Order: sequence, then C-alpha cells, then structure tokens
Amino acid sequence: MPDRYAVIGHPIAHSKSPLIHGLFAQATGQDMTYGLIDGGADEGGFARALADFRASGGRGLNVTLPFKVQALAAADEASEDARLAGAANALRFDGGRIEARNFDGIGLVRDITHNLGAALAGRRVLVLGAGGATRGALRPLALAGAAEILVANRTADKARALAEELAPHAGACVLRGGGFDALPGAAPFDVVINATSASLSGDAPPVPASAFAPGALAYDMVYGKGLTPFLRAAQAAGVTRVADGVGMLVEQAAEAFAWWRGVRPDTREALARLTVPLE
Ligand code: NDP
Repeated sequence: MPDRYAVIGHPIAHSKSPLIHGLFAQATGQDMTYGLIDGGADEGGFARALADFRASGGRGLNVTLPFKVQALAAADEASEDARLAGAANALRFDGGRIEARNFDGIGLVRDITHNLGAALAGRRVLVLGAGGATRGALRPLALAGAAEILVANRTADKARALAEELAPHAGACVLRGGGFDALPGAAPFDVVINATSASLSGDAPPVPASAFAPGALAYDMVYGKGLTPFLRAAQAAGVTRVADGVGMLVEQAAEAFAWWRGVRPDTREALARLTVPLE
C-alpha cells in the first residue's frame, strides 16, 4: 500500500499541491499518494477530518486556509517557525504523535535566493502587511541574513507589535514596524515583499517609487493573478525584477516533502509547470 498524504483546506478544489507533490513523488520514485481533503465550513470539521485521515493510516498533511492555526493547536510538537508563526502548514503523524512545521517562510527565502537569485544577506527588506504570512516570514528572512527588515502595514500598531514580538528571534537583523506613512522618508529597499492580501481585491498597498533601490526585487506573495497592481506599481517605479508567490508555494511543498520522505525533490519541473509569465 502506498503511503498517503493530502492537503486540507476550505475551499480546496483549486489547490495546486496534488500536482506539485505528484511531480515530486514521480521524480524521486516515492511510493505515495496525495489527495485533497475539504475540512468544510462548520466548527469541528478540521478535527474530524484530521482524526479520520489518521485513523485510516494517513502519514502527513499540508494545511492551508483556514486551518493553519487549528493545525498547530492539534500538534504534540512544533518547530520554532511554526510556534512563532502561530500556525502550521505541514503535519506529520509519527506513531501516536502529531508533529507540526511551518515551511511558508523558508519557502519564500528559498524562492528569493535560489530561484530568483536575489541576495538577502546584508540587504534591506521591506515587508508590506502584518498578517499570518508576514508573521511566518520574518524569522526566516532575518536568519537568511537580512540586515534590516521594515514591516509596514495599513494598521500600523499591528506591524509595530509584530516586529517587537519577533525582534528577539531575528538574530542580528534589525526588525522594525510601522505604518505606510513611514515609507516616503525611508531609505530604499533591496527586496520589497507584498504580503498583504490587497492583490486579491485588485488593490495595492501605497508604496512610493523611492522605496525601491536600484536593482530591487519586487515580490508579491499572491500567485495566479498575473501582474498584480503592486507589481505594476513597482514596474512603473522602474523595477525590472518582479515575481509572484508561485515559487514560494513550490518551495514550501518541497520542504514538506523532504521532511516526510527524507529525500529532497528537484523543484524545477514543478516551477516550470506552474509558472505563468507575468504580463
Ligand atoms: P491575512 O489576512 O492574515 O493578512 C492580510 C494583510 O493584508 C493585513 O496586514 C492587512 O492589513 C493587509 N491588507 C488587506 N487588504 C489590504 C489593502 N487593500 N491595502 C493594504 N493592506 C491590506 O493574510 P495572510 O497574511 O495569510 O496572506 C497574505 C497574502 O499572502 C495573501 O495574498 C495570500 O494569498 C498570500 N500567501 C501566499 C503564500 C504562498 O505560498 N505563495 C502562502 C501564504 C500566503 P490590516 O492589518 O490593516 O487589515
């Protein structure tokens, strides 16, 4: 019997994870299946689906919206990234125990540094937004060597509180938070990451052209939306290196796969299949 894995979320039909993990399994010769589980909208749906999947011999789950916080709460053991993110995006069932990880941040870092070839070490990074995705990304960005990270958010207090909370876990990186109003006077940034959900509603956070250093990378975590208003604004400001979050999705999947199976998949095939030209 092949080992069973799945992604759980609600809604979930649109998920690219079965395609990605199917490619990884094929390329690495792993005897496994990877399915979709809809945890439903009613209270208790996630817990029931989790229990059923484990009882039927499931080995691990990827977790997406809206269950990442519940997934962490269900775990017996969690990585520091998951604990600091307050959310898990991967679970592993080991005997009677549930282990939790959050690979979103490391997936982002690997996409930026490996796939896009942009440096983080010693660089100034601007992260727009202070929600769950930012919470998961800050420590991995800091540990990748970013010299300074500014978190700017529509609700400035949220960004300040998040930066203050995570600063002790950011190593030598200087981590600060504030509102968008701080951006016009700030020194330019080498990497500007849109981690707001503004792109989902066709909107963009107000980033001045002066925020982009020469040669900067503009990165929108959202994917499947083409050139988002944020990426368009970056291009209008003269930025030539723009990327959406599809590589982050593929790289976090590769991290989970390696954790589950003990073998790291090559991500190039999945990236080639999922990447849509931004225009
Ligand atoms: P949250 O709902 O937790 O946070 C949303 C954030 O966006 C908040 O900071 C909110 O500001 C801000 N925001 C929302 N609308 C606007 C707007 N119109 N203008 C300015 N700011 C706005 O979302 P997540 O952090 O979970 O997700 C953020 C994005 O990252 C989503 O687009 C998601 O799809 C993407 N993502 C991509 C992943 C990948 O693998 N590529 C993985 C995880 C997330 P405020 O606090 O003021 O409300």
